[in-house]
Amino acid sequence: MAEHEHVRVAVIGSGFGGLGAAVRLRREGITDFVVLERADGVGGTWRDNTYPGCACDVPSHLYSFSFAPNPEWPRTFSGQEHIRAYLEHVAEVFRLRPHLRFGCEVKRMAWNAQQLRWDIETSGGSFSADVVVSATGPLSDPKMPDIPGLDSFPGAVFHSARWDHDYDVRGKRVAMVGTGASAIQIVPSIQPDVAKLVLFQRTPAWVMPRVDRAISGPERSLHRALPFTTKLRRGLLWGIRELQVQAFTKRPNELGFVEQLAKYNMARAVKDPALRAKLTPDYRIGCKRILLSNTYYPALARPNVDVVASGLAEVRGSTVVAADGTEAEVDAIVFGTGFHVTGMPMAERVVGADGRTLAESWSEGMKGLRGATASGFPNWMTIIGPNTGLGNSSMILMIESQLNYMADYLRQLDVLGGRVALDARPRAVEAWNHTVQERMKRTVWNTGGCTSWYLDANGRNTTVWPGTTTEFRNATRRVDLGEYEVLRAPRAGAAAATEEQIAAAEARA
Ligand SMILES: Cc1cc2nc3c(=O)[nH]c(=O)nc-3n(C[C@H](O)[C@H](O)[C@H](O)COP(=O)(O)OP(=O)(O)OC[C@H]3O[C@@H](n4cnc5c(N)ncnc54)[C@H](O)[C@@H]3O)c2cc1C
Repeated sequence: MAEHEHVRVAVIGSGFGGLGAAVRLRREGITDFVVLERADGVGGTWRDNTYPGCACDVPSHLYSFSFAPNPEWPRTFSGQEHIRAYLEHVAEVFRLRPHLRFGCEVKRMAWNAQQLRWDIETSGGSFSADVVVSATGPLSDPKMPDIPGLDSFPGAVFHSARWDHDYDVRGKRVAMVGTGASAIQIVPSIQPDVAKLVLFQRTPAWVMPRVDRAISGPERSLHRALPFTTKLRRGLLWGIRELQVQAFTKRPNELGFVEQLAKYNMARAVKDPALRAKLTPDYRIGCKRILLSNTYYPALARPNVDVVASGLAEVRGSTVVAADGTEAEVDAIVFGTGFHVTGMPMAERVVGADGRTLAESWSEGMKGLRGATASGFPNWMTIIGPNTGLGNSSMILMIESQLNYMADYLRQLDVLGGRVALDARPRAVEAWNHTVQERMKRTVWNTGGCTSWYLDANGRNTTVWPGTTTEFRNATRRVDLGEYEVLRAPRAGAAAATEEQIAAAEARA
């Protein structure tokens, strides 16, 4: 690897976001770019999450790139190994390998106002880039709670996103902490094999049936022979979800009907009224992500499972102790406790034009412009940035909208010509966030009576997009230059100048 490499674009991360950006760059005719990845392979989420039962919870034909349809999806909700293989395939087919730089964890990157570029230090060498596209993922850095006594636990301890495959759970007593999307996939997968499963549930989840089945050979042949059928299938899956959005964003009361279905789903599998009471949420369905499973409730009803309706509070030797005082002796603790989402770990490593980090700039909460850029961080954009998450549909739709924005951003830089950078105007950022937060007030995520990882420490929802994916697509089709300050490279020794300053100086001259 070169000691120092300068590129036009540095993409960080090689999950759906980073690989999608790389494909789009090539399609725009840009080949002067690298993809910096801290791990030793592509896949992001689908490389790191290898826990038993790991699968997508949005149907595969929608949870994949529109430009890389896959007629071979084996199931309606395919497993982790198939999604990872799909991403490897994308890297191969779109010839991304020469651009990938593995073992390059970005440690720090700083805006160089003289050169109008980003100086990037990684664990695998230094780089500089005119533009940075940060696709480090919203669910990439596992969150481990600080539990007193955990250090002294003699057994195995690991997070769902870093499953310890050397540890054999068969015949063991296992504590599962958390009831989120990962936990509800893990529980039914390990329950038949473990001696005892103790589930620590701080808040119960609403769980709906998952219409999961193998995609038959004839169906796959049809998709292969007639590619428009894959598109049609994708279109239907998208349309159904798009129609649901209004209930989440404007009329949460309509979700009451869905709540009844979820209760029926539970009642079918859980006959014990005391257990049903423990598992019934006290908030509006949709406030937290609605989880899909046909096997979670039946697993909880098995005799080797104990549901503790309380969070894990302490560990004493091999005894795990819940906040309500319940104790259990276990051999292993698995944390399904989610990720650092609203904190965005990468933000601490990005140093902007005024010497402050992005984390400092966002100390009162993440604030982006159209989910992509941030004021004071010129030519930096992020994929799945603030308020781009979805409660009910595929994140790939949002990623592809952001790739449109990225492509237009790069085109605008070309049109402006010379060494140039765009910096989001604070006024534009404020206006965008004001609109988003106003719309957020009526949503189920803000009114449904739950606390969730969608909300930051100030209770502000900086995670979810309060609209349809079509609205986001329209909002990110083009870069509005009025929302940006245009920075031009200074002459030697001078400070960076804005377009207005240059025009004023020229007028004076
Ligand atoms: C278990 C699980 C299931 C999910 N299921 C669904 C689903 O069904 N539907 C859906 O829409 N969404 C789902 N998601 C959300 C999922 O995260 C997104 O859909 C999508 O995969 C995110 O892609 P990404 O490229 O933005 O991030 P990631 O896939 O997280 O990739 C980020 C990459 O950046 C790298 N990276 C991070 N920091 C650095 C650094 N400092 N330097 C260099 N590299 C770095 C990471 O190693 C990683 O490879 C799921 C998430 C999880 C965890």
